[in-house]
Amino acid sequence: MLQRVVEAAGRTAVGSAQAGGGGTMIGALIGTAVGLAASPVLRAAAARYSVPYGEPLQVCCPRGRYRLPPSGSCPGCGQRGGPRAGLVELAAAGAGAAIGAAAHWPVAPVLVWAGLFGVVLGFVDAAVFRLPDALTLPLAAGTAVLLVTAGLTEHQGGVLLRCLYAGLAFGACYGALALLAPMGFGDAKLAPSLGALLGWYGWHTVLAGFFYGFLLAALWGGALLLAGRSGRGASIAFGPAMLLGALLAVLTAV
Ligand SMILES: [Zn+2]
Repeated sequence: MLQRVVEAAGRTAVGSAQAGGGGTMIGALIGTAVGLAASPVLRAAAARYSVPYGEPLQVCCPRGRYRLPPSGSCPGCGQRGGPRAGLVELAAAGAGAAIGAAAHWPVAPVLVWAGLFGVVLGFVDAAVFRLPDALTLPLAAGTAVLLVTAGLTEHQGGVLLRCLYAGLAFGACYGALALLAPMGFGDAKLAPSLGALLGWYGWHTVLAGFFYGFLLAALWGGALLLAGRSGRGASIAFGPAMLLGALLAVLTAV
């Protein structure tokens, strides 16, 4: 399913690139449609992986495992779970629109891949404060394969080398933060994918993505404090800020 979505998005990205000026608008519309189409699967994955460390995945029945309607109640058993009604759909449509507007060939499949995993990871981290290996590792593997494919398509050996260094730098920074600060190792396993992806656009985009992540986390933490939803020193999920920061950097890079 994911594979098919990625392939379809790749084809449409070529189409909108050839269309020229209206490409951004068409891209945003196609991205929104792809996001909405994928959202039942993304919602099911978000519900499934939103479990504390070491606990079995949340699976009510086979139908709920594979896809869930926007309400979040399983079509098989009627059980409710996962993110609030409509939230995954909103996030998937929003991320899809942004990625669709920003995507250009040959990097579009990487953005779509990261966007699909990113939506799920954001909701799982917000729910249970962790980014499971079962999501971050396939994201990293797919990102690596798709980036290399994109680089070879355009004969961009130098760009690929920058992606590698940026991925390593992001991984090293978040790895150090996981060791020294109250930052999770899940963040450190998500970091190389985002760093490598940002590396495609250049070092200033890598730096911007890093900076935006911390800026958004600070804003989110501040908003929670003001709303009285968390005490001083309470931890916040950093994954959503990292992901949104990277998306923001990609959007401002193109
Ligand atoms: Zn069910």
